[in-house]
Amino acid sequence: MNLDEFEEWGQKIATWSADYHRTVGDRPVRAQTRPGEIAAQLEVSAPEGGEGMDTIMADFERIVMPGMTHWQHPRFFAYFTSNAAPASILADQIVNTMAAQCMLWQTSPAATEMEGVMVDWLRQALGLADGFSGVIQDSASSATLSAVLTMRERATRWRGNKEGLNGLGNLRIYCSEQVHSSIDRACWVAGIGQDNLVKIGTGPSGHAFEIDTNALQERITADRKAGHIPAGIIAITGGTGIGAWDFLDPVLEIAKAEDLYTHLDAAWAGSAMICPEFRDRFWGDAVSGFDSIVFNPHKWLGTQFDCSVQFLRDPSQQLNTLKIEPEYLKTSGAAVTNYSEWTIPLGRRFRALKLWFLMRAYGLENLRGRIRNHVLWAGELCEVIRGMDGFDIVTEPILSLFTFRCPGDDAMQQRLVDAINDDGRIYITQGMHDGRKMIRFQVGQFETTRADVMMAADVITEIWEKIK
Ligand SMILES: *Cc1c(COP(=O)(O)O)cnc(C)c1O
Repeated sequence: MNLDEFEEWGQKIATWSADYHRTVGDRPVRAQTRPGEIAAQLEVSAPEGGEGMDTIMADFERIVMPGMTHWQHPRFFAYFTSNAAPASILADQIVNTMAAQCMLWQTSPAATEMEGVMVDWLRQALGLADGFSGVIQDSASSATLSAVLTMRERATRWRGNKEGLNGLGNLRIYCSEQVHSSIDRACWVAGIGQDNLVKIGTGPSGHAFEIDTNALQERITADRKAGHIPAGIIAITGGTGIGAWDFLDPVLEIAKAEDLYTHLDAAWAGSAMICPEFRDRFWGDAVSGFDSIVFNPHKWLGTQFDCSVQFLRDPSQQLNTLKIEPEYLKTSGAAVTNYSEWTIPLGRRFRALKLWFLMRAYGLENLRGRIRNHVLWAGELCEVIRGMDGFDIVTEPILSLFTFRCPGDDAMQQRLVDAINDDGRIYITQGMHDGRKMIRFQVGQFETTRADVMMAADVITEIWEKIK
């Protein structure tokens, strides 16, 4: 491909992209294909000679597009959203073009310096205390793994990296049973092990599904008696299943008394904390007592995937855990920040640019308005579903997430979910709560409207009448 062709196709694809966003709402949200159908249409081996872009694009439309699930669809109500506001897409196109590998300050000073400033813009927007710094990672899973490794190293007096874990005793990490599976995996990978991730029950508020801090304290005391080594506590704001959120003050009180490192997983709900009313309700000032906090601007704020911000109260703890500086990575001259020392991968994309484009193009007030609307509309839809014959609300809305059941057993819940997703006008997913299957509904797509959300009620009613 020469640069004239590159330019021509770049322009064509820009037009394609705008048209895609204009018309994505007319497509079925979830791909309507069977396993293997797409792979069967692809050539089994790479071509020996180059092919023209016309042919490649035509095959893309014919083979690939029908196999896509549309995450930017305004009626995507499954999982959590992974947004891509148009302004952030433009930033990522620039980043793709320069394709800089921003591992060190000197491998692109602008990327490093903008990352520091964007983390601080977000720190202020989320109302975290002065003094927090942070780093942009690819995913909350990576940020949580970094925090768990820091817990491990801090608790072993920095011996784990050097000596390995054999003979260092049973390190213990505590969380509620509502945490995301990324916490389990972080403990597997960090060598701590599933059996040493202590999951505490929830209660007693009845509405937040918060970690039971009395039980937490008892477990830590019992573990110390048994000779185990408590290393850290992971709290959540907005769990994936039903939106569970821990009360931060009592968790921090225990962590402080027990000298434990703390990490807060707000991967989804963190974006909503740009709204002062949600911050007051879910976080208060206590949030600034956490050592590490992760949230994904790519989920609800509008930044293109991937973009996960990890705030750190004292980055030296994580740097002591992860920093490694062979001669070829040393930078001579003035002291600079090298973000690759803060994370597990060495190589890193220029992720700060899409945050800069996003926050400048929309402004925080516009971003707050979208999130407030999502919360409001989820509440309205919840009331409509509550009024539907035989339907029950299983968990009340927490921000823009609630769960419900249709009449019938667990298999019926799955039948309804599958029938709705086969229909394609909306996309929802199922979950488990208290040992029973339920249907999850969340609102968070960047361009979704009230009409999109309310249409879900019609679709659910119509499909239910057909299958019941
Ligand atoms: C989505 C989510 C995660 C995982 O996020 P990744 O960035 O995909 O690793 C972790 N915790 C919670 C609460 C989430 O909602």
